[in-house]
Amino acid sequence: MRIPFIAGNWKMNKSIDEARQLVSELLPLLKDIKTAEIAVCPPFVSLTSVKSLLLGSAVKLGTQNIHDQEKGAFTGEVAPGMLAGWVDYAILGHSERRQIFGESDAFINRKVLAALKHGMTPILCIGETLEENEAGQTETVLERQVRAGVADISATDAPRLVVAYEPIWAIGTGRAATADDAQTRCAFVRACLRAQLGDAADTIRVQYGGSVSAANAAEILSKPDIDGALVGGASLKAADFAAICRAAGA
Ligand code: PEP
Repeated sequence: MRIPFIAGNWKMNKSIDEARQLVSELLPLLKDIKTAEIAVCPPFVSLTSVKSLLLGSAVKLGTQNIHDQEKGAFTGEVAPGMLAGWVDYAILGHSERRQIFGESDAFINRKVLAALKHGMTPILCIGETLEENEAGQTETVLERQVRAGVADISATDAPRLVVAYEPIWAIGTGRAATADDAQTRCAFVRACLRAQLGDAADTIRVQYGGSVSAANAAEILSKPDIDGALVGGASLKAADFAAICRAAGA
């Protein structure tokens, strides 16, 4: 039994004050939702103040990135150990990190291992571009990203992993995958996880991400291999994010 998991990726949005405001609006709307796990992932600068507002609630905290090294001359980066004990989740390998900042599969894998080592649950993001999709390469891309992303994860850690399938053409475009297509891809991702990690694939939650909204969440989340959603734009509005969370678990 996989507990549905909804995570809000705020990306580079919200000042510290705005982050506090959003969480204050969100918490009363989420407090009756018992059957889904929920996390918010604000920018680094707001993690501590958001954390203090979340104390006493069931809502979890996530970071949008970490570096793979323990410390050193990496100006502007944040080491995994700095967040250990503070955040529950780490979004890793988001397509914006892959495409804009040139993160490789190998670098993302080192971050995944570092997150696990420091007690954070990685949300490993994977997904194909529009060109890859149209060229019929989606499965090849997903298989490669899963295989590389989960390399060297121990059998003990494997069940903790979360994978977010996010077709890049659906992110921020308002054009979500159909629920049936999302189900097909998430089932394929689970098959890839099974090939790499064995029966842990039954426990690992596979989220769908890409223009999830209050209007389409219920249908997408009703699919058997979709265990939640990674939500970008709609996570910036309390009412919309709460509606998506409610669709995952009343
Ligand atoms: C994302 O960036 O992870 C995402 C899914 O964004 P959006 O919901 O805005 O498409």
